[in-house]
Amino acid sequence: MIKSDPDRSSGAEFAAARAGSTWYCAGNKDRLHYLFEGGRRLGRVRRGVEDGQRAMSESPETVGTDLPVRDVVGVGFGPANLALAIAIEEHNAECPPRERISAQFFEKQDRFGWHPGMLLDGATMQIAFPKDLVTFRNPRSAFTFFNYLFDQGRLVDFVNHQTFFPTRHEFHDYLQWAARRVDADVRYGTAVETVRGIRGDDGVIDRFEVRAADGSTVIARNVVMGAGLRERIPEWANPSARCFHNHQFLFRLGEMPAPVHHRFVVLGAGQSAAEIVQYLHGNYPEAEVHSVFSRYGYSPADDSPYANRIFDPEAVDDLHGAPEAERLRLLDVHRSTNYSVVDIELINELYATEYQERVRGRRRLFMRRASEIIAVDETSDGIEVAVRSGVDGLTDTLACDALILATGFTPAPLEPLLGDLAPQTHPPRDVGRDYRLAVSPDVTAGIYLQGGTEKTHGITSSLLSNVAVRAGEIVTSVVTRRGRNGTLASVNAQDTYATSEAR
Ligand SMILES: Cc1cc2nc3c(=O)[nH]c(=O)nc-3n(C[C@H](O)[C@H](O)[C@H](O)COP(=O)(O)OP(=O)(O)OC[C@H]3O[C@@H](n4cnc5c(N)ncnc54)[C@H](O)[C@@H]3O)c2cc1C
Repeated sequence: MIKSDPDRSSGAEFAAARAGSTWYCAGNKDRLHYLFEGGRRLGRVRRGVEDGQRAMSESPETVGTDLPVRDVVGVGFGPANLALAIAIEEHNAECPPRERISAQFFEKQDRFGWHPGMLLDGATMQIAFPKDLVTFRNPRSAFTFFNYLFDQGRLVDFVNHQTFFPTRHEFHDYLQWAARRVDADVRYGTAVETVRGIRGDDGVIDRFEVRAADGSTVIARNVVMGAGLRERIPEWANPSARCFHNHQFLFRLGEMPAPVHHRFVVLGAGQSAAEIVQYLHGNYPEAEVHSVFSRYGYSPADDSPYANRIFDPEAVDDLHGAPEAERLRLLDVHRSTNYSVVDIELINELYATEYQERVRGRRRLFMRRASEIIAVDETSDGIEVAVRSGVDGLTDTLACDALILATGFTPAPLEPLLGDLAPQTHPPRDVGRDYRLAVSPDVTAGIYLQGGTEKTHGITSSLLSNVAVRAGEIVTSVVTRRGRNGTLASVNAQDTYATSEAR
């Protein structure tokens, strides 16, 4: 199944570790059942622990220094590293103490939050709920979305709702619930600033020094980068109280001076843009909303079942193993599953709204297709936005209360944190199947990437679709590589995933 692995030194062991797991249990339901029975995690979850710093079950070692040494230090504690923390907890529960993984996570937000600036009322998830933090890796985990529903007393009600797509509010609540329950050492309100290699006497970098903004330092055998995405701001834009990226939408809207012009411009044609257009139109009943984009119209997201396979855990094998040209071709062909596309229901709702306005003769919603913003000028009480149509070449200057830039994201750059350890290319082109960044031979400590690996592992890189499986794969790799260095390693069944080969 492993078709290629640039990290040749570890690839064979990684494959062997996975070969002994449920990954290869196609059709062997008894074994699958047995393994998950063995991997079961019941009755050990701590309840009532608040967000914030806390003790972890695995106490850290120190090596010739007072600084704690961790097997894994996670940068960021979004869904990706939360899924990793759960995978580590489940691994530790099933192995002898000497094989446990110690871990620490840093999160710059004061508490767990999943894109809180975009928690719009009624906005729904773009993936089916079973693609939660654990199910595809370990459906019997205590951290499934189903168990969350059960815990909240809403299991039956949710099923009656007959949807695979909960609201973002509910999924956010699920993620917060999981973040509270997981037995992980998370230092909230603390941004990581630098990761530097530590050379041993043999000249090899076998550990990293991870330094946080508050000056605290921890030593890591492996660093898992889970810092998420960075807002993409057009070069001409100067972010301000009236010109801001949609990522902080609700916060910026709350801070915005009272509307004077009763007009908004939203730039972009993706899901977030369309959601914001609908939100502003619904919440500012006196305001015009102008949706500006270069397309002729919103395009629907392709979530049909065959195309959706590009998000399968198995697709990561296919894409990572494929020749680069083919991989890039496939990613391009399937862009319409994720990029600059909108849920068809939302498209239809917006169209119906606009049509009704035409019928009634009072227009508030305007689609400015094939258009671009050519000038922006902040005034004392608003912002003037010049919109040029590529079709007729005419320009309209709109006096607005705010311009919202729904212009997407790029992977957070690695260089500011990793310095010399960062790859030359952004995004990196040389990442092992186990998400370990290829580094020079004198670095044996591991840098794993949760996100920013789209060019090597596919579209799931920055999405939720694969966080459960990927977390298990990273645990597998960490354990396997540690085994090479002397400590006996065993890989739990639930560290890998249960779907692809069991289909
Ligand atoms: C509005 C919106 C809706 C989305 N909906 C979906 C969806 O329905 N389905 C889907 O699959 N994907 C969706 N996505 C894509 C999104 O990227 C994933 O949902 C998810 O957030 C990825 O998790 P992550 O942990 O990799 O990154 P993030 O959720 O971005 O988490 C990264 C974390 O790292 C922290 N951090 C960053 N730098 C540092 C540092 N130096 N030190 C410490 N902490 C740091 C950040 O504060 C953040 O909490 C959505 C994205 C947005 C913006």
